[in-house]
Amino acid sequence: MEIKAIRGFNDILPDEIGKWQFVEGTARKVFEGFGFSEIRIPVLERTELFSRGIGEATDIVEKEMYTFTDKSGNSLTLRPEATASMARAYLEHQVYTFDPVAKLYCIGPMFRYERPQKGRYRQFYQMDAEVFGVENPMVDAEVIVMLIDFLERVGIEKLELHINTLGCRACRPRYREELKKFLTTKAFQLCEDCQRRLETNPLRIFDCKVETCQEAIVNAPNVSDFVCSECQKHFEKVREYLEIAGLAYILNPRMVRGLDYYTRTAFEVVSYHLGSQNAVTGGGRYDNLFQEIGGLDIPGIGFAIGMERLVSLLPKDRKFVQSPQLFIASLGDETIKEAYQIINQLHLQGIRAELDYEGKSLKSQMRRADKLKARYVLILGENELKKGRAVLRDMESKSQEEIPIPDLVNILKEKVKGQE
Ligand code: AMP
Repeated sequence: MEIKAIRGFNDILPDEIGKWQFVEGTARKVFEGFGFSEIRIPVLERTELFSRGIGEATDIVEKEMYTFTDKSGNSLTLRPEATASMARAYLEHQVYTFDPVAKLYCIGPMFRYERPQKGRYRQFYQMDAEVFGVENPMVDAEVIVMLIDFLERVGIEKLELHINTLGCRACRPRYREELKKFLTTKAFQLCEDCQRRLETNPLRIFDCKVETCQEAIVNAPNVSDFVCSECQKHFEKVREYLEIAGLAYILNPRMVRGLDYYTRTAFEVVSYHLGSQNAVTGGGRYDNLFQEIGGLDIPGIGFAIGMERLVSLLPKDRKFVQSPQLFIASLGDETIKEAYQIINQLHLQGIRAELDYEGKSLKSQMRRADKLKARYVLILGENELKKGRAVLRDMESKSQEEIPIPDLVNILKEKVKGQE
């Protein structure tokens, strides 16, 4: 029986990979320009890192984690997100002893046991950027500006930046109580999950997609009306810095991030091209996470970008397909060794080139060159070869010229330069 991939786990095939590499490459350039360094963390962690870090009463921990017991009886979990692991690594290796401020980014797969559908998978990729060790609101603005700069550089359009403040450990409990009181009067309208959330984590009800739950929260109190003066001051500063940076934003008092660890600044970037799963990325400040996972009192802020959704939003008119710069079509038995020698030289010079291994007819080789979208074709015929020459065909303009074979690499390099 043919073995198929697991539901919700996708292959990213070569005709798609150009987009992914472009997005990753741009992220590296932008993030590193803003002073961030890459960190690579394991995909598997102890379950308690997530249950304590993300919070027991979140959808992720309640029902979406890939958790299993290993042969030694340890409960392990495939990472559903990267922030908790990055914080663990920062604490475990005492990165703060080198410098209290760490700006880190990480690109890789995450795993959540969700119902697979368009834009929602069980293995999906995220790009995470986090700053640990700075409480100053300037860094909130810096992170948001970096995120928007990145999204603009990859060409994402129709974006809206939504921001909100979620308060802190001092002021949020009062809001939670008020919200709970309000929603208790509407409990009959809430779905089964939200009735449970009413007890465990009423803020999560804002994220519920069920229509009656959305109706129930229409007139709910806003968290921003309950925040303490410290949180208020912090948020005003964030807005001031965003304004200095010239970034437009929408104040969205209804935007409440799903994970327990968020405090104060929360933000999301939504694209109306995406339909109901319209958040391309979200993030915020989490000043309690480090303590939750048993560490020091270290503030943090960051975001995670869902790469599948991002890739689906890339401009349609951009070409990301990787095609050969040159296809070598050789005619006759004598030319094949010469073709190999040329292609070998090209490969060693980093020029993407292809040939036909089977010595098929010229027509069939040209058809293949066309299918592979080769930019040029070098036609090696026995007669020209005797003179050390070959025909170079431009597959776009369909023009041909005879060139001396030793000049091929330089000619190709010149042509590529002219097209950049
Ligand atoms: P979160 O970590 O839940 O805040 O998600 C951050 C981003 O990751 C979201 O805005 C999505 O773009 C993406 N994301 C989250 N869950 C999934 C999933 N199951 N499949 C694909 N992308 C996801």
